[in-house]
Amino acid sequence: MSERIERAREEMSKQVDGKVAAYFSSCVRCGLCAEACHFHVETNDPRFAPIYKLEPMRKVWRREQTLGGRLSGFFSSRDELREEDFAEWEELVYDSCNLCGRCSMVCPLGIDLAYMLRRQRSAFAVAGYVPEGMRTALQRTLELGSPMGVSLKTIDATLEQVEKRCGLKVPVDRKGAEYMTIFSSMEVVNFPEYIESLALIFDAAGLSWTLSSRAFEATNAGIQVGDNAAAREIVERIVSAAEELGVRYVISPECGHAYTAIRWEGPNLIGRPYRFEVVHILELLDRLQRDGRLQIGSRSDRPMTLHDPCQIVRRGGVVDPPRHLLAAVASGFVEMRDHGTMNWCCGGGGGVSANERAEQLRLRVFKRKKRQLDELGVDTLVTACANCRIVLEEGLEHYEMDTEVISLTELIAVHLK
Ligand code: SF4
Ligand code: SF4
Repeated sequence: MSERIERAREEMSKQVDGKVAAYFSSCVRCGLCAEACHFHVETNDPRFAPIYKLEPMRKVWRREQTLGGRLSGFFSSRDELREEDFAEWEELVYDSCNLCGRCSMVCPLGIDLAYMLRRQRSAFAVAGYVPEGMRTALQRTLELGSPMGVSLKTIDATLEQVEKRCGLKVPVDRKGAEYMTIFSSMEVVNFPEYIESLALIFDAAGLSWTLSSRAFEATNAGIQVGDNAAAREIVERIVSAAEELGVRYVISPECGHAYTAIRWEGPNLIGRPYRFEVVHILELLDRLQRDGRLQIGSRSDRPMTLHDPCQIVRRGGVVDPPRHLLAAVASGFVEMRDHGTMNWCCGGGGGVSANERAEQLRLRVFKRKKRQLDELGVDTLVTACANCRIVLEEGLEHYEMDTEVISLTELIAVHLK
């Protein structure tokens, strides 16, 4: 076994913590998780059953933590983790999993498959079995500060345009501000209207806010790849900038995995609590509206529905705020059949959208989202994640659907009093 694979095997062994071991030993192989995964239900490919995607990790657990596995290890190499396992499972681990956590919701034994799938990726990252697009995104984040290569110069140019359009100053590096915002580079490049909407909303609500020129990127490619050292470094950039500016809150933007990274995984990655609170933009808007600081004027009567970003809603717990906000601005809001914590992923989460070779599979499983939309017959889809937004737009275009995708924050800004 090469040294790299030996290190990957050690990493896998480290990732089999008490929870993972308990999960493997309680799985009854009922197959219910398979019916919750869009990759499995849309393709009928048994390899896409969530529990099967965890076979490499199961091998290590069986060999090291069960009596039978330890004994049989003396006579057989059946459960030995080999380079071929990494090569064969790379597609199952990255291309056909969004880490969306829908499978975790249905397991009758309470097994959090998404937790295990995320941990398993760490060993694949050590083994070097990571799709090209995701590897490049991580490299760019570490070297340039952003997976899309967005530099401070790009941010400055975008802010200049935003300020011209809305006539408001976007504060940068303002010490003592109460809130610090971070962005997904997709927002900067594809949806600068989001930044403009923040400026308008925060001005109307009288919020003291700032951006940091040292840490404006919210996305964390380290989490998606499973490279914990890189994920830690990316979180630390934001933490040190926020603590230096002395802000009380960091606002996580309309980006699913960025919220998981900074809100839930961040403190564990850096090994200490933050000296500020992380709030998702939807939680903040909801709070401002309840406090009477966000005054909504007109309501839209256009029929619209909500796509729940998995990491914000199912995994992140921000379930009610988008619904409160939509109720305030849209009289024609209707829920999809499976919504909230049981919504279906857009298919691009967990780094899949950065993985070019997974594109055909992603578009194939988009049929699940298409069906949800066809049932409702509305032509406006609201969401709160820039990555979902791009993936949804691509899917809708692919299936020639005439549906507009809009951001919830932008919708709120349009309906400000
Ligand atoms: S639903 Fe739970 S118990 Fe059933 S196969 Fe999946 S992980 Fe195992
Ligand atoms: S986390 Fe989502 S995409 Fe991954 S196996 Fe579970 S249901 Fe499928």
